[in-house]
Amino acid sequence: MNDILPSEIKGWQLIESVFYNLMQAYGYNEIRMPIVEMTSLFKRSIGEVTDIVEKEMYTFDDRNGDSLSLRPEGTASCVRAALQNGLLHNQIQKLWYAGPMFRHERPQKGRYRQFHQFGVEVFGLAGPDIDVELILLTARLWKLLEIDQKVELEINSLGSNEARHAYRDILVDYFNAHRDELDDDSIRRLTSNPLRILDSKNPDMLDVISSAPKLAEHLDSESEDHFTGLCAYLDQCDIRYRINPCLVRGLDYYNRTVFEWVSRDLGAQATVCAGGRYDGLVKQLGGRDTPAVGFALGLERLILLLNEDFLLKSVQRPHAYLIMLSPEAQIAGRVLAEQLLDNISSLRLHVHTGGGSMKSQMKRADKSQARLALILGEDEIKASQITIKYLRDTEHTQETIAQAKIEQWLREFIK
Ligand code: ATP
Ligand code: MG
Repeated sequence: MNDILPSEIKGWQLIESVFYNLMQAYGYNEIRMPIVEMTSLFKRSIGEVTDIVEKEMYTFDDRNGDSLSLRPEGTASCVRAALQNGLLHNQIQKLWYAGPMFRHERPQKGRYRQFHQFGVEVFGLAGPDIDVELILLTARLWKLLEIDQKVELEINSLGSNEARHAYRDILVDYFNAHRDELDDDSIRRLTSNPLRILDSKNPDMLDVISSAPKLAEHLDSESEDHFTGLCAYLDQCDIRYRINPCLVRGLDYYNRTVFEWVSRDLGAQATVCAGGRYDGLVKQLGGRDTPAVGFALGLERLILLLNEDFLLKSVQRPHAYLIMLSPEAQIAGRVLAEQLLDNISSLRLHVHTGGGSMKSQMKRADKSQARLALILGEDEIKASQITIKYLRDTEHTQETIAQAKIEQWLREFIK
């Protein structure tokens, strides 16, 4: 679990603000859920025999003896919240959330025990057009963050629950016939969650996996139509994708469309964003049959993809740093600074605190990355003036003007 330090925060804030604006642009509403839920919620939704529920949840008994878990993901909580608050009665909901998730995994690059996700969940829409909307808005996010060259889209269809169950038997037969080629993990999954074998990252398993029967060849006709519709739509929107027949996702609730945005720049943990349909989950958790689709993206991995240049370009440096060279100037300066902040709403003005010599205050001004130093010394105070010194511009050096004029001067400067 990481501290996110001031020196690292810029990327986070940038992604947060871009994402927030994007959600407004597409008409999605934020929902905030608690960080703990009843353990049974995750067992019922994610599935008992998944990595998350079997070995990754932070689970504890509270003082009443109820078993609670820190949320390992947001979808289950979001469905619970939507149901409990009556948000799904004959309504379409387009929701998003952001926040920490918790999984007791082996810490490694791109995988932490507290990590952060943005999640989007849409309820009440069954067609491929909404699947496409989610893909389009993530594609736009990559463009806005200037990482669109670094990520690729993979899609697949898991079909209906019935089709998947039928396929499961075919797959188990196939892997049983090739049992000697399976690793221990896969042999265990053969009885618990055979589809997950397809998702194995073990290179020794590549051959046996790539020759396995494909889910795509065993889809029900409705899911096939849905998937064909999705692909045609993506083509029209100029979104490039790769159909990955082994993309199965690690959670039980998915059906039909699943997708992942992956990046070669991330090493073994290559998926930045993953999602899909989960048409059965609302009903399974006690609601009416409600089609649903969503995705979650991992902020830590997204931040690894951001370019240094892009970050630098987006930093909002202070316009000015106010230096005050006498006790009298300190008070007059603070009063002036408050007036300026009152009157110029976009002004970023750092006021020196802690006293000190001209030299030490100038050092701090420089470190703040401000474009200007504003200086109030004894002379300036006597004459009701203020000195402006350019810190990043060699052409201008400095000028002294009346304090009464500084507001107008700054307005012009930050335009
Ligand atoms: P992984 O590829 O790590 O096994 P997953 O399939 O378990 O991921 P999801 O549950 O689909 O992941 O979560 C969506 C996204 O959240 C992932 O694509 C990833 O970006 C991020 N994520 C998941 N687990 C972690 C983690 N332990 N640390 C950091 N980010 C994570
Ligand atoms: Mg995982």
